[in-house]
Amino acid sequence: MTPARLFPPGSTVGVMGSGQLGRMLAIAARRMGYRIHVFSPEKGTPAGQLADLEIAAPYEDQAAVTAFAKGIDVLTFEFENIPAASVEWAAAHCVVRPAGSVLDICQHRLREKQFLAGAGIPVAPFAPVSTSAELATALAAIGTPAVLKTASFGYDGKGQLKINSPADADAVDLATPSVLERFIPFSKEISVIVARGLGGETATFPVCENIHRHHILDLTIAPARIDPEVEQAARALASAIADRLDLVGLLAVEMFLLSDNTLLVNELAPRPHNSGHYTFDACVTSQFEQQLRAICGLSLGSTDLLRPAAMANLLGDLWSQGEPNWPAAAAFPGVKIHLYGKTGPRSGRKMGHLTALAPTLDLAISEVRAARNSLTR
Ligand code: AMP
Repeated sequence: MTPARLFPPGSTVGVMGSGQLGRMLAIAARRMGYRIHVFSPEKGTPAGQLADLEIAAPYEDQAAVTAFAKGIDVLTFEFENIPAASVEWAAAHCVVRPAGSVLDICQHRLREKQFLAGAGIPVAPFAPVSTSAELATALAAIGTPAVLKTASFGYDGKGQLKINSPADADAVDLATPSVLERFIPFSKEISVIVARGLGGETATFPVCENIHRHHILDLTIAPARIDPEVEQAARALASAIADRLDLVGLLAVEMFLLSDNTLLVNELAPRPHNSGHYTFDACVTSQFEQQLRAICGLSLGSTDLLRPAAMANLLGDLWSQGEPNWPAAAAFPGVKIHLYGKTGPRSGRKMGHLTALAPTLDLAISEVRAARNSLTR
């Protein structure tokens, strides 16, 4: 390994995007003695509050991206929707991990699905759709119910429409290129976070189970309540995808588990993921430290789960009657409070999360729910 491929503590890590994922990466980085610089269009951001340097400029600003890249050793991402050109500008001056090619796949649902299907990874039947005629053909092939998703910039259910019958298609306004997918009557949603290092070694975190409310992640439970064979299969799928992407970094793989125990991959994110927040408190190495280790060329850390854990998101809605009752949540000794330093608690906005660690999974779940409920009492 040449020295330029390895960035030991003391090096400077750059991050594109500066929300809570960058904030928790910054915490891990500072703890290990790295310097951290963040770049996003805003100032005073969750990650910027903890960074050595916060640059506020548009991702399309070539001069700003170039200057940023010159001041860091290695660039990574907490947000995949970075223009390809910006990644190329940066790559002329610093190491970029994961590579722009990985972002290119993961920022576009159609490219992502085609990549997965081409790699032999099981996905829901899908078809590209850009016109009403293509939608009608795709509906005939895929059947209903189906889900129409915009190819770009969709998250937390945004840009998604369920189509229950072919007649529903008449009302669809196809403003942007989209993907039609069969609606999957899954028994559970699970996810696996995998890290892949410079030498191609992979490490998967325990499979976790995700429960959504209004399309936004509400609760993550780890370990997932699934058969050991499913746990193994899910981890193997995630590692196979990371290998196929030739990833250096972290990848979150969202999957649907069907009642017959088959798995379908729904979505990829080449960065830390909301469903991996539990690892911050509950694993030997957090997903954030693992991202740092992978992109800096260090050995990957142990992903062992220390105790059963449950994570509950704190959305802006909790602020509707004023500041939540933090002392009440702090009264739960096994519950950790995480707040992202955001002002402006809008409905649906991710403001923080709670993680409960307990001797049993059932206890962790009931503790985290009780702690969150206590915030508004
Ligand atoms: P996504 O943005 O693709 O992660 O979708 C957000 C959520 O919508 C998922 O976590 C699922 O709960 C649901 N969803 C997405 N695609 C499908 C599908 N093909 N069948 C059933 N539910 C889906």
